[in-house]
Amino acid sequence: MTVGTDPSETSDILRGIARAKERLGKDMLLLAHFYQHDDIVRFADFVGDSLQLAEKAAQHKDARYIVFCSVSFMAETARILCRPDQEVLHPEPRASCPLANMASVAAVETAWNALAALGRKIIPVVYVNSNADLKAFCARNDGIVCTSANVRKVFSRVLSQDGAVFFFPDENMGRNISHDLAIAEDELFFWDPERGLAGMHPTPLRKAKVFLWEGFCIVHRVMGARDVARLRQEHEGIKVIVHPECTPEVYRQADLAGSTNFIKGTVDRSAAGSKWVIGTEWNFVNRIKKENPDKLIIPLREERCKEMAKVTPEKLLRVLEGLLEGELVSRVTVDKRISADARIALSRMLEIV
Ligand code: SF4
Repeated sequence: MTVGTDPSETSDILRGIARAKERLGKDMLLLAHFYQHDDIVRFADFVGDSLQLAEKAAQHKDARYIVFCSVSFMAETARILCRPDQEVLHPEPRASCPLANMASVAAVETAWNALAALGRKIIPVVYVNSNADLKAFCARNDGIVCTSANVRKVFSRVLSQDGAVFFFPDENMGRNISHDLAIAEDELFFWDPERGLAGMHPTPLRKAKVFLWEGFCIVHRVMGARDVARLRQEHEGIKVIVHPECTPEVYRQADLAGSTNFIKGTVDRSAAGSKWVIGTEWNFVNRIKKENPDKLIIPLREERCKEMAKVTPEKLLRVLEGLLEGELVSRVTVDKRISADARIALSRMLEIV
């Protein structure tokens, strides 16, 4: 349980959420990311990955309130994509993705200006795990947002139009997808924000097909190639499926890789008795395990996302009780100009699914 140490207090909170949700009825849509704890997911109207949740927020026109259980950039994305008269509430605004915070718009603009001076066709591509101002930056510079579900298509599209990709903030995902697309390591350029282009030989800059920002997910980065090797040794015939935020060492040893929705679908559809190692956040892996009792499912590492875990049932209950009393607790707002630009880049993302 995520709530307190007293089981009766926990049950009271969970019963309170159930009652409040029933009273709010269709006025409220509760969205939860796959990495949320079971005590949140059980109340969600829809659970999904960031692409699916963005689509839901863009499509759902009935609810007056969208309560979004995840980290802040996803709640912001919902705010940008939903109708202006809908309200988005995030039970814990301080739950913020460390990967998203590894690229500020000022630092990316500095890099962009230096790359633009090369005179090459370079398209900025920002991972959805980023703050709204970076999405807006992409829109202003003919760029696009991608998620782990469509990143391969987005890279392919840019490269097929003779452009180079400037991808931020997840270096591992950029390297992994580049590898899938047969881009050689010496066609990658790693942008070091401290160093910039100072002292760089022009050849790698002319040759680079993908420019990568040096950011990473702290949850996926600790999953190691040694863990893969050990589990393969311990369980003969086991298949390894991982998220593309994992390091290239892990990614290249895996049998399959993709978004959380891809991972879930693949394991759910696999034959009874099949064996899986799953390389992504533990709450999600544990839930797939419970939903597939006829399969052997082992997490690559028992890593939880501490930021996702900041959204607790107590905080959710506070938001729902606020709504019943006519109060908007933890209301999500995004600057109007940033929102208008970011919406353009997000709409481009939703067209490439
Ligand atoms: S799992 Fe990684 S990328 Fe996802 S919210 Fe947590 S820190 Fe960010």
